[in-house]
Amino acid sequence: MEKTLIILKPDALQRRLMGKIICRFEEKGFQIIGLKMLRITETMARKHYAEHEGKDFFEPLVRYTTSAPVIVMALQGKNIVEIARKMMGATFGFRAEPGTIRGDYAVSNRFNLIHGSDSPAAAEREIGTFFHTGELFEYKPADFSWIYDLSTGDII
Ligand code: UDP
Ligand code: MG
Repeated sequence: MEKTLIILKPDALQRRLMGKIICRFEEKGFQIIGLKMLRITETMARKHYAEHEGKDFFEPLVRYTTSAPVIVMALQGKNIVEIARKMMGATFGFRAEPGTIRGDYAVSNRFNLIHGSDSPAAAEREIGTFFHTGELFEYKPADFSWIYDLSTGDII
């Protein structure tokens, strides 16, 4: 099963949208395996967004990310990295399709509510940044055999 790291960014908290966003991932059938609230420090923000260092939006992005508490979530499901990115929508709120999280709730190029890992390798690394092993939970969801067809021995 694939994992991804989701961050509900400071605007999600300030705009009271955290519950609605979490709900979308629950209703889709994904499993929450870790969840906590924290204030991202400047050091953490710079590390998390290191790929964007030097770009013109890097410093404002660090200020945005550290401007209020966030919720970080580790989620699990088949092909979750790709599906979660689709559910989030395009990076810029004004470009994100209606029906996506950013498309429904964001218009800004920066204040776009949510981060999601862009590859399984990034997910692995980012989950490691935000969670200790004891903060991640393994359990079988009660509805697992109705979320996926397990009758052939595969997860379909
Ligand atoms: N961002 C920005 N200006 C830009 C591009 C990105 O402020 O021109 C911010 C935005 O909040 C985005 C984050 O930087 O979510 C990381 O950018 P990335 O291209 O990785 O987008 P994402 O993976 O979040 O869709
Ligand atoms: Mg990105």
